[in-house]
Order: sequence, then C-alpha cells, then structure tokens
Amino acid sequence: MSIAQNVAAIRARMDAAARAAGRDPAEILLCAATKMNDADRIREAVAAGVDCCGENRVQELTAKQPLGAYEGRPVHFIGRLQTNKVNKVVGKVELIQSVDRTELLEAVNRAALRLGLRQQILLEVNIGAEPQKGGFSPGQTLELAAGMAAYPGLFLRGLMAIPPVSEKKGDNCKYFAKMRNLYIDIADKKYDNVSMVCLSMGMSDDFEDAISEGSTMIRVGTAIFGARPYQLKTT
Ligand SMILES: *Cc1c(COP(=O)(O)O)cnc(C)c1O
Repeated sequence: MSIAQNVAAIRARMDAAARAAGRDPAEILLCAATKMNDADRIREAVAAGVDCCGENRVQELTAKQPLGAYEGRPVHFIGRLQTNKVNKVVGKVELIQSVDRTELLEAVNRAALRLGLRQQILLEVNIGAEPQKGGFSPGQTLELAAGMAAYPGLFLRGLMAIPPVSEKKGDNCKYFAKMRNLYIDIADKKYDNVSMVCLSMGMSDDFEDAISEGSTMIRVGTAIFGARPYQLKTT
C-alpha cells in the first residue's frame, strides 16, 4: 500500500467512526506522526491530504523543515521537549502539543516573549496516571488553564493525551472519555488566554475509539507510513 492509499483508507475509517458517533467528520483532523520518516515520505503524506504533521524530536524538525518537508501544511511538535531546546521550536511550529510540565510551560512562555509572539500550545495530560510518563494530572490541568492569563507568550488551544498501551480494543475508551470531560470543563469556564479548539488523542491502534469519545485530532504514524524500524519512546 502506498502512503496515499493508507491516508485514503484512514480517512474512510475516520469518516465512518465519526458518523457512527453522530459527529461531523469535518471536525476531526488527521495529524501525520512523521518521526523517522524522511522529507520525501512526509511530502507524500502532505500531498495525500493529511491536515498537519507532528514531529517528535527537535533534531528531526530542524533537519527536515529547511527541506520543505511540511510545505503546505502546519507542523506541530508532539514529543518530549527539553527546556534547553525550546528556542529551536518556539515560533517554528504552529502548535506545541506536548507541554507536559510547568518548567517547560514557563520556558516556552519566555522564549515566545523574547521573539514577540504568542505560541499556541496544548497541555499534555497524564490521563492514565502512569508514573513513567510526563503530563499533568487532570487537577493540575484545570488549575493551569485557570491561570493562563499569567502567560502572555502562550495561547492555550486544548489538550493532548497518550493513554496507557491497551491490551484490547476499547480499553482506552474510559481514558478518552475522561479527557473529553476535562476538555469540556475547561472550555465552559471561558478562561482568559484559553480557546479550546483541539482535543488531540487517538493513534494508529485506537483512533476510532478516540473519535467516538470526542477526539478532534488523531495523530497517526504507523497506519500512514508503515512500521518504523524501532519504536521511539514517546514520553
Ligand atoms: C509516534 C506517535 C504517534 C503515532 O503513533 P502510531 O502508533 O505509529 O500511530 C502519536 N503521537 C505521538 C506523540 C507519537 O510519538
């Protein structure tokens, strides 16, 4: 199967999952998780109509962006970001999806202010309360959203989650549902410097469940590009 065929097949599955949940397929975006794929393969995915690209590693972003790998689509940062590398990412991507700790939030804010811009971010939620993973608890997430006015270099656009690896299909629905509730709670409060437009959850193995529970952006790697030579740690 070509990348274009894979993207078409995923679109069909996204549409079916949305309709089954009584949702408009147009409200769900497809983010290509591009780690370990070169600029040519990413261009193929962009040509096939993915909505945006998501990179995990600063080094890959920095290498592929000048080659025009993402041209025509926004690029997001979706991986673990070290505070000493924020300058290579802030202002270079449309959205940083993986703001997973206060230290990083503050570093991104400072970098954005230095550049005179407002960086759009998502807060990453550790929805399975897994000790080895980054991300905020739901309580911390609510608190941070309430206090976003204190970060003029940031603009909070939503939430992201990577739930626990599931044993069987459907296992992650409860985590997706919790994320949806948290997302709605924050949106309803209408906090300053917050506009909830993106609930990023669902990957190759579980995106249909994520869509039925309210995801507005799925991040898909393997189902678009095929298996990676090895599994990158995502946290
Ligand atoms: C790799 C990655 C994905 C996509 O994973 P697949 O299982 O290959 O679809 C999604 N989100 C993040 C943060 C990733 O690192």
